[in-house]
Formats: sequence, C-alpha cells, structure tokens
Amino acid sequence: MAYSFETQCVHGGEERTWRDGERSVSTPIYQSATFFHTQIGHGQFNYTRQDNPTRLHLEETVAALEGGADAIAFASGMAAIAAVFELFRPGDHIIVSEDLYGGTTRLFNNVSAKNGLLVEFVDTCDAEKIRNAVRPETKAIYVETPSNPMMNVTDLREARRIAAAANALLIVDNTFMTPYFQKPLTLGADLVVHSGTKFLAGHNDTICGFVVAATKQLGEDVRLIGKTTGGMLSPFDSWLVERGIKTLAVRLEREQETALKLARALQENPHVKKVYYVGLPEHPGYAVNKGQTTGFGAMLSIRTDSEETALRALRKVRLITFAESLGGTESLITYPLTQTHDSVPEEQRMRLGIDGSLLRLSVGLEDARDLLADIEQALEE
Ligand SMILES: *Cc1c(COP(=O)(O)O)cnc(C)c1O
Repeated sequence: MAYSFETQCVHGGEERTWRDGERSVSTPIYQSATFFHTQIGHGQFNYTRQDNPTRLHLEETVAALEGGADAIAFASGMAAIAAVFELFRPGDHIIVSEDLYGGTTRLFNNVSAKNGLLVEFVDTCDAEKIRNAVRPETKAIYVETPSNPMMNVTDLREARRIAAAANALLIVDNTFMTPYFQKPLTLGADLVVHSGTKFLAGHNDTICGFVVAATKQLGEDVRLIGKTTGGMLSPFDSWLVERGIKTLAVRLEREQETALKLARALQENPHVKKVYYVGLPEHPGYAVNKGQTTGFGAMLSIRTDSEETALRALRKVRLITFAESLGGTESLITYPLTQTHDSVPEEQRMRLGIDGSLLRLSVGLEDARDLLADIEQALEE
C-alpha cells in the first residue's frame, strides 16, 4: 500500500528501501566522490556526479511526492531548469508564461535564445493565447502557476490539452505550490521543475533544484544531461533537503493559514491598494487554482499606494527580513523590481505590473500577530 503524502515526507518514497547495513534512522551522508568495486559489474554506485546513495534517496522521495517516475536533484533550481532546456534543439519553439521567475526569463533571453531556441512569452492564463501561439515547431509549453510575483494562475488541464494536441511537452515550475498543494504530473504534465531551495528545503539554508519526470524515458534523458553537464546536488545538501522535506506538510499548513490572515488584514490597510493572493475569492484565478490544487500556498504580493511606501516598508521591517528568496521558516519581503525581476526587460515588467510599488511576501513560521504588527508598522508613515 502506498503511504500518504505526510508519511512519505518523513519516510521517503518506498518502504525501507534503505540499503545501509548500519540501520541508521537518518539517511547517511555518503560524502564520497567515488565508490569502489570488487570486480567488473559490481556495485550500484560509481561516481558522485553520476550517482550517489544520499542523493538517490532524496530523489526517490521527491519522485514519490510528485507522483513521478523519476526525479533528478540539481545544485540549484536554475541548474534543473537549464538541464530541461538541453532537451531541445535549435529551431524548437517553446511557449512560456510571460510572468516567470526572473532567472528563468534571463535563461531564456540570454542562453536559450543564443542556442537557437525560439522562446515565445505568452499570457498563459488565457488558454486561447496559448492555442494561438502553437506552431508546427512547438515542442513545449512551460508554465509557472501561480506565477512569480503576480500570482497569475494558468489552467493546467487546458495547457495539457493544448500541449497534447501539439505533441509538445508540458513543463510546470511547481516551486510555489509544492506537491503538497499541486501535483502537475497527475494533471498530465510531462515534467515538473523545482527550486528546492524554497519550500522543499524550507529553511533558507541551502540551494537546490529538481526535475521530476512523468516517464522513465524522460527521467533518463534528463539524468544523462545532468551527469554530463554536472550540476548535480552534493551529498551533504541532499541530506539537508531531505531533512527539510520531513516537515513540508506541517510547515505549509501553518504558513498558508498565516498567509491568509495577512492577506485579509492587508486588504484593510490604508497604504495597500491591492493584495495578490490566490486564496482570496476575489483573485481572478481563484476558481481555476482551486480546481487544480488542494491549497493556496504562502506567497502573496501587495501593491502599496506608492513607491515611497514600498521603500519605507523595506527600511522599517524588523521581524520580516528584506531578502531575496522564499519558502523558508523565516518570513521574507522582496522588492521584485530590483531583486528577483531585475533582469526582466522593462517593457515586459511594466506590462505585468512589476513596478516600484510592488512588494512580495513569503510567509514563514513566525506567529501571525507578530508578522502583521511588523508589516503594519513598516507601512505606516
Ligand atoms: C528561486 C526560483 C527559481 C530558481 O531556483 P534557484 O534554486 O534559485 O536556482 C526558479 N523558479 C522559481 C519559481 C523560483 O522561485
């Protein structure tokens, strides 16, 4: 019998597959570059860039949580996403959400374009726009939902239908929701990517990434790219991320509860013009999101009444930390304009609404009242 999600977070993907003779309860850290053989063909592991038992245990856990056939752990989310884009060839056309993590936009504009991929930014919240962008050379649709930082929602079932009709892959960045709230592979996606740095690792203490594949074949294709280009996750970091995942479900439950409280309270704040949180019924993507997830997550953005207010809040926060990143135990506040989305072309940024008055909040595990008191005093003149 397959265990429930919460149990898999703690114990990993399969029942006591663990190979360690010493029977440690915590997965051992195989801090070894290489593994010896007693004869030709002996031993499962060879060389840590290619395979490592600590990393493999983590990969099995993540594959199980996402409902994938395979998961590959990379040294960062960007290494994972870059590996996925090595699946394509010059001339391949790829439709991507226009509201994306800034580093991903930079990858597409600076690296993928140079390599001859035809990357087209589309408002993927509108299925008609995706459909109209499809060409004979379309090989993939790449979406983030909810998106960063505007929390726009893409209908994954619609995207899947369009991708299937075009014989293209559907790739989903599931960093914001994590498999606890959203499992794109079960909705028909082919690949899921993660910045494991965020909610999966969950403690603002390491960088990592994942590619999860719906089929063994896709998993093998990505593994070949990973071991060849070399951006694999180290044994120690694999162990840290596995430890973080043990509490994924309970962290997200609490963080989501706090995020909803903050979202509601901030809607009433005189310095806040708009709250972007998919857990608010007035959010335009509320219904679609609800139909494809089991929750709303812990990310929200706010449009303050002016750039001055936003800059003041960044100066005055005391508990909430002004820093890039998200998904950790510590609540962080980010200024997308100059931080995460600095390398997004200005015209695209303005169209999306990423201007000087926008702040993004990642809600951590502190007490909701403490967080609210802090953001409220920070917004005040
Ligand atoms: C942070 C992030 C990435 C990049 O991951 P790194 O671990 O920083 O390399 C990709 N996508 C999303 C949605 C992110 O938040």
